[in-house]
Amino acid sequence: RRAQYEAVRGLAAETLDGARMSVMVNAGLAEDAASLELTGADGIGLFRTEFQFLVSATLPGRESQLKLYKRVLEAAGDKPVIFRTLDIGGDKALPYLSTDSTEAENPSMGWRALRLSLDRSTLMKAQARALIQAASGRVLRVMFPMISEPWEYEQARALFEEQVEWAARGNRKLPERIEFGAMLEVPALAEMLDQLLPRVDFLSIGTNDLTQFLFAADRGDPRLAQRYDWLSPSILRFLKRVIDATAKSGTPVRICGEMAGRPLECMALIGIGANGFSITPAAVGPIKALIRSVDASALRAKMDGWLQKPPQDLRRALTEWARRHDV
Ligand code: PEP
Ligand code: MG
Repeated sequence: RRAQYEAVRGLAAETLDGARMSVMVNAGLAEDAASLELTGADGIGLFRTEFQFLVSATLPGRESQLKLYKRVLEAAGDKPVIFRTLDIGGDKALPYLSTDSTEAENPSMGWRALRLSLDRSTLMKAQARALIQAASGRVLRVMFPMISEPWEYEQARALFEEQVEWAARGNRKLPERIEFGAMLEVPALAEMLDQLLPRVDFLSIGTNDLTQFLFAADRGDPRLAQRYDWLSPSILRFLKRVIDATAKSGTPVRICGEMAGRPLECMALIGIGANGFSITPAAVGPIKALIRSVDASALRAKMDGWLQKPPQDLRRALTEWARRHDV
């Protein structure tokens, strides 16, 4: 198997019927950029900028953020890197930043991520300036976590654009262009896609948080880990509606939660029309091998039927389909 994954490293992530998929990696540290070379992934689809904050004893200043972002962009070369702005607060509390979140009863639904960044805008401004400077002369791609309503996206984007103007006034070299994306991980946002999609360059679905909110089941509670299945018709129907809406508007969409890194789950995602994934580096080989062994249009037809009239056990149905089709 290892040899098989090695063999797919240099090959395109293309299905049997010729659909090209994009397979990127999730990362968070400068060292992670090496995984691009090792795995042959198409880029970094999720760079979790809060990692630097979580491993540091004091608040990383603009200079040290700049250094990290530059290093990552340089290591990625021509491949795209999507930086996600800070996702701290909640369960990722920082000892040197008072968020009062230790007292929150539901930290994952608390004052975290973009909510915190918009309220503590000095923090976000420093990050925006570091990202803008790091990407001078190249494309900067940023996305915002935990957006619940479109105005939060608008406010975050406006803050970035103000920092671009600030940099321009100082005659600094700017990014060639900036692409802005939204993470869809709060279910409410799915109801507002008609408003949001015309304003974003891409959408990224975070299935870790999204499924915990859809099922109202804490993603960190081991007693619930086996209770609900990612391969449930409810999740897949939900995701399919989002993917169909983004496809209709011509907006690229990528799935960046852990779900996409598991072969059977990824197969189901291809079956509902997904074509972009950002996954843990160790999963790139298995997922590329899966993509290359599947007939996407046959699978989509089968999934349509299953989602209209769900079988008793969708996981089993998918497993059997995979076996029958040599996936
Ligand atoms: C997610 O929620 O699915 C996601 C990709 O972000 P994180 O796991 O960092 O919350
Ligand atoms: Mg998340």
